[in-house]
Amino acid sequence: MDSREIVQVEDDTDTVGCDGGGGALGHPLVYLTFDDGDVVDCYYCSRRFAKARALKPKNPAETQ
Ligand SMILES: [Zn+2]
Repeated sequence: MDSREIVQVEDDTDTVGCDGGGGALGHPLVYLTFDDGDVVDCYYCSRRFAKARALKPKNPAETQ
């Protein structure tokens, strides 16, 4: 299954906070660190956070 939500962040982001977006999928706020790459997955809700450069070939319309 590859239906997870991808959240784009800026290239110079080191840490992102995720609370699941609220609602039924919400969870306690956690901070995720991009230790070893341009993407990191939330271990609560499986959302994927990706730096803009990692998504460049696709140029997603899902920017917020
Ligand atoms: Zn999450």
